[in-house]
Amino acid sequence: MVAPAHSAVQPKARNVGPIILLGAPGAGKGTQAKQIMEAYGIPQISTGDILRANVAQGTELGKQAKAIMERGELVPDQLVCDMVAQRLLQTDCERGFILDGFPRTVAQAEWLDQFLASERFARQKCAHLPPVVIEIAVGYNQLLKRLTGRRSCPTCGRIYNVHFQPPRVTDVCDVDGAKLVTRKDDSEEVIAERLKAYERQTLPLTEYYKGKGRLRVLDGEKDPDLVTAETLKAIEHGHSM
Ligand code: AMP
Repeated sequence: MVAPAHSAVQPKARNVGPIILLGAPGAGKGTQAKQIMEAYGIPQISTGDILRANVAQGTELGKQAKAIMERGELVPDQLVCDMVAQRLLQTDCERGFILDGFPRTVAQAEWLDQFLASERFARQKCAHLPPVVIEIAVGYNQLLKRLTGRRSCPTCGRIYNVHFQPPRVTDVCDVDGAKLVTRKDDSEEVIAERLKAYERQTLPLTEYYKGKGRLRVLDGEKDPDLVTAETLKAIEHGHSM
């Protein structure tokens, strides 16, 4: 295999560019994003996390998003795109960033392409790099099991699963001993709505990126470490294209 032209550059100094992780809720985007973040030293930008933080802080955006999120529906594109634009202009995004949970619709993907090519974004070092788009594919039944079993630590953010990755002590975080919580939108009926919203609105996205020759599809039912190895390979491959 031909090594990427810039393989001599340390991953944490490299201009990585935008990495977009696609996949249904529960596909493991958050887990993989954390691994990419560690490998390349670029931030993970989870629109779900930013929205939840806004809801918790009671900001204007949080007030507008709260009820929509509790129903498992998508927050309007305009609100989410403005929020993402602000985040991508921060200095920690200059070499690249991982988008987790964004774009969710074709309209958001089109907006992102325009934004990345815009004058506003031109000052970031990675402005000229096309996004590497990775879809983590997982079947419906497996997703249901993962989502209903999901618990997270409200203090450090670590994610567990009562079926697959339980904490050492039931409902207690291994790292800091905090009591684990179930996200409000991980209840069974809300999960069904989120998966439906994903199918309805997000699947066309894979077509959008496939059409641009940017999509890499990975089997997300494999062991998480294997998925990570393939994810990092896909990013390197994306660079050498
Ligand atoms: P997540 O943590 O990515 O599953 O997102 C949780 C919730 O936040 C979703 O069910 C939506 O209500 C909202 N949300 C997150 N990202 C987006 C987005 N890109 N567009 C619209 N709504 C979003």
